[in-house]
Amino acid sequence: MQPLKVPGRVLVGEGVLTKLCRKRPKPRQFFLFNDILVYGNILISKKKYNQQHIISLEDVKLENVDDEITLRNGWKIISPKKSFVVYAATTTEKTQWMSHIKKCVNDLLLKRGITQDTANDSPVWVPDDEATVCMHCRKYQFSVINRRHHCRKCGKVVCGPCSDQKWLLPQQSSKPIRICLSCYNELSSAKSTNAGPPPAALGAEDSSGEDSSDDDDTNYANVDTVSQDEQFQTYD
Ligand SMILES: [Zn+2]
Ligand SMILES: [Zn+2]
Repeated sequence: MQPLKVPGRVLVGEGVLTKLCRKRPKPRQFFLFNDILVYGNILISKKKYNQQHIISLEDVKLENVDDEITLRNGWKIISPKKSFVVYAATTTEKTQWMSHIKKCVNDLLLKRGITQDTANDSPVWVPDDEATVCMHCRKYQFSVINRRHHCRKCGKVVCGPCSDQKWLLPQQSSKPIRICLSCYNELSSAKSTNAGPPPAALGAEDSSGEDSSDDDDTNYANVDTVSQDEQFQTYD
């Protein structure tokens, strides 16, 4: 685990947000510092967290998500390393979170004298249950045996044959990762004009558990309800 205490780092706010994961939405504890966003599983409410993820705020962009019947007050958190959707309990909380994150990002960019680059942002993964057939060939029916895979470039749910290529996307992984055929063709043609990373075909070592690595889940998260004191709290 990375040490969070560094000079100049200030905790701006914290609270529980519902993160849309691959299978279903899950509660996650988020900590907003002035330079990073940290989130993790909740083991014991307010006391213990694991599976800690750290996103540098200089890379973070926010995008609104329209309300649906069951999922409301959501927005996208987009970065090169990881992009996903989160939901706040109320509209007020959503507004607070978004404005605090935006302010931290802008302050940081100003302080460091840099601008953001969106070219290498990772995709928000399409949840498993939104695709019953492959989003590339539109033929392959998913089942327990016919597993779903996610393209790391576009985030679509695709079948094995439509995603048997890997590509090096350094902002996401140091090893080549699974991409769909559309993205492969796109990246290959882009590569022929300017030298890019070499593609690599999926080897025999490609294990079946690969895609589940994103599902930062544990079974002992004991937070089904978000109580009053778990709402977004600010410290300024
Ligand atoms: Zn397919
Ligand atoms: Zn793709």
